Amino acid sequence: MARDITLRLYNTLTRTKEVFQPLDPANVRMYVCGPTVYDRAHIGNARPAIVFDVLFRLLRLVYGEAAVTYVRNITDVDDKINARAAERGISIRELTETTLADYCEDVAGLQCLPPTHQPRATEHIDDMKAMIEGLVEAGHAYVAEGHVLFNVPSLADYGGLSGRPMKEMIAGARVEVAPYKKDPADFVLWKPSSEGEPGWPSPCGIEGMGRPGWHIECSAMADRFLWEALEDRLSEAAREHPHQFDIHGGGIDLVFPHHENEVAQSRACFHSDRMASVWMHNGFLQVEGEKMSKSLGNFITIRDLLSTDAFGGRTWPGEVLRLAMLGTDYRQPIDWTVRALEEAEANLLRWKRRIGDDVSEGTPDAQVVAALADDLNTPKAIARLHEIAKSIGDDSRRDRDAARTLSASLLLLGFDLGFAAAAQEAPPVPEAEIAEMIEARAAARGARDFAEADRIRDSLAERGILLKDGKDPETGQPKTTWEVAR
Ligand code: AMP
Ligand code: ZN
Repeated sequence: MARDITLRLYNTLTRTKEVFQPLDPANVRMYVCGPTVYDRAHIGNARPAIVFDVLFRLLRLVYGEAAVTYVRNITDVDDKINARAAERGISIRELTETTLADYCEDVAGLQCLPPTHQPRATEHIDDMKAMIEGLVEAGHAYVAEGHVLFNVPSLADYGGLSGRPMKEMIAGARVEVAPYKKDPADFVLWKPSSEGEPGWPSPCGIEGMGRPGWHIECSAMADRFLWEALEDRLSEAAREHPHQFDIHGGGIDLVFPHHENEVAQSRACFHSDRMASVWMHNGFLQVEGEKMSKSLGNFITIRDLLSTDAFGGRTWPGEVLRLAMLGTDYRQPIDWTVRALEEAEANLLRWKRRIGDDVSEGTPDAQVVAALADDLNTPKAIARLHEIAKSIGDDSRRDRDAARTLSASLLLLGFDLGFAAAAQEAPPVPEAEIAEMIEARAAARGARDFAEADRIRDSLAERGILLKDGKDPETGQPKTTWEVAR
């Protein structure tokens, strides 16, 4: 724990970089909007996952691991999901299950820690319904033609997060003008479901089944995990700000309408003046200078990069993708290029060589921490990593402490070199196959077919596996072990 570090974060709400002061330093609370699970996550989706993972790690360093609660939701009820499941002729559940499993695998491949909670919207329908009923009771929402709508003019200071005039917002978001809306800016909290669409018994006395709107999902899940579940543990000072938490994050595209509407719902429901103290938004990612889109044929998924040759004609390790992502300040647009990936790979390789065996989980470099504490300035942190790497020096006069500091600093950014080294040492022949061949060789020897036994040994050696005949220390019986040839 290092509470003497002052964190400064850019807050979209105030449009300034502010000193971060959690409501309760023993319970730092962060919510980040997660994926809608209808398709494989693209490399743009990887950006918030990586950026807020770095913030999560930094918060854990400053406030202690047990003090930080990070919630990233899964949107598993959405019209895009229904359409895609129908298109593929599979059930909604099958689509969301497999897409969610893929997402977890992809972000783990990018070396992101799992969040503290990863709630699924469909598991919190009751929480959403309770909020919707509260909003209707408080006069901020109304029922119309089987829908429940949030009445935007009922919240006098609506629009404070995006700070855009209402007219512009409505035009920009192409708000659906529906005859049942009292005001064109009103948005859906609940809508009716027809046969075949996912549905739950509707709130507010509405007959029939329905499903929640997108915005209410996040308001409800944030409150469940960052207020309800923690309330008893919070400091008295934090409890003076009921239903509020510290950081809310997501991509810049979410500021309006999604986050603006989350704020409106939560504030109106809980009669508070804030939902979260700090709102953070990552900039957008484009590919080789162009907007990523299916029609341009430059739409790349995380999985494409990790395990196919779709980008740059080869696969890319997750840590390379991660470093390339952190090479640009999180608030700036990022241009995703093969060149940046090659550069990231070369840097990682150079750092690994310099670190050698001096892998450490110890104390990260103070200047790296200071750069991150300054609104996650990862380019500055990376520049400092280069300096430290240089200072390690050559074989004859190696500064092993500097090597350890480099390793620990990389770990703070999510580069686990111990892990990477182990992964690199995965044998060139699958372990099960080696075991089979050792057995076959023993059988050949037992049958005194030494030519066959030698053939097996040599064929493994050719593939980089050396066999060593010895004795089992426990049983004293002959035993063959293996190692990767150097
Ligand atoms: P979605 O599944 O579209 O709701 O997106 C999940 C997260 O990825 C949100 O935080 C989005 O803001 C973010 N996101 C989507 N596309 C991009 C992109 N091209 N660049 C950066 N972030 C993105
Ligand atoms: Zn959200």
